[in-house]
Amino acid sequence: MSELLSAFHTHLAQTSPFPIALDIVGAEGCHITARNGQQYLDLVAGLAVNNVGHRHPKVVAAIKEQADRYLHVIPYGEFLQAPQVLLAERLASVLPESLNCTYFVNSGTEANEAALKLAKRITGRTKLVACHKSYHGSTHGSLSITGNEEKKYRNRPLLPDVHFMRFNVAEDLDMIDARTAAVVVEPVQGDAGVRIPGAAWMHALRARCTAVGAMLIFDEVQTGFGRTGKLFAFGHFGVVPDILVLGKAIGGGMPMGAFVSAAEHMRLLTHDPVLGHITTFGGHPVNCAAGLAALEVLLEEGMVENALRMGELFKELLVHPAIGEVRGTGLMLAVDLGDAGKVQRVVQGCLQRGVLGFWFLSCPTAFRIAPPLCITEELVRGACAAITQELDRL
Ligand code: PMP
Repeated sequence: MSELLSAFHTHLAQTSPFPIALDIVGAEGCHITARNGQQYLDLVAGLAVNNVGHRHPKVVAAIKEQADRYLHVIPYGEFLQAPQVLLAERLASVLPESLNCTYFVNSGTEANEAALKLAKRITGRTKLVACHKSYHGSTHGSLSITGNEEKKYRNRPLLPDVHFMRFNVAEDLDMIDARTAAVVVEPVQGDAGVRIPGAAWMHALRARCTAVGAMLIFDEVQTGFGRTGKLFAFGHFGVVPDILVLGKAIGGGMPMGAFVSAAEHMRLLTHDPVLGHITTFGGHPVNCAAGLAALEVLLEEGMVENALRMGELFKELLVHPAIGEVRGTGLMLAVDLGDAGKVQRVVQGCLQRGVLGFWFLSCPTAFRIAPPLCITEELVRGACAAITQELDRL
């Protein structure tokens, strides 16, 4: 065992008993390079983070430029830091009018925590409604609204007054009532194994929230920034949330999260109490500079449209008797084999062939395909050939 691997196991806290433990020396575009010289085609994109690919030159240049000016200078919200302001302004320009004000935090889960607080402030209510099989993050509030009991049961007590409805089931919308502060929904469920709701349910959800005065929160941490073939997944449905939660790809590979709402809502966080939500590092100038560059790249290079095209190509090529279903939209795909053991063997086998796939938190019978959105037709064909060869060996 190398010294680095031994220290990895001894001194670095672990999250699972079986980490892949590839020793990474570089990453560029759609590829990751390990110390043994092996190149991997990345079908994970850092878990929906590297939407514009690894180390896009414009993102790296923006990081270097900002690092040459200033790093962290003061906790969020005090000074005028151009990268923060410019990214917030740019986000407003690509979002509907009612989502015109952004608060930057450090991660997806923190953005969800803050969104819940904001919804309570706006409504003066406490009840929260979320969906079965959802994933919203690993901190206490986000875990409370996560619909995966296995991830929660060791951490109780969690937030009170949280209720779960079935995703995409019309009759359960009755749970949303005049006591409800917020309804939190992934517009396409990610870690449940990529589940797309019907447009009618999404419209009924919006209508119900509006009718009872509950805040509709869309968690687009995983679906955001082109992943599903639209800049944001709510664009597929024509349904606009009251609060939009962002993370992952927002920082172009740097750690960041955000929640977005109308400026008049956000103002509630400035009084009674003052500093109603605060963070030291939120909106780090280097991360915002990277995020702004990544957003421009995503739009300039047509990556959102490419995600749609390449997603269709994956679906066209992944036809095999061992595949039960390929679900998804854009480059947010789940290949369901109907059997967890087979998924393990295919993911491991692909890794040996230099193709990195990955699992889902709450769907053991499927593996995920979520590469950088700049993936080319040639790479998609290569990936599908490798996957098909592994499926043949089952
Ligand atoms: N919401 C969704 C929909 C997610 O997929 C994730 C991460 N998988 C999170 C929230 C949590 O984000 P983070 O890991 O940055 O806290």
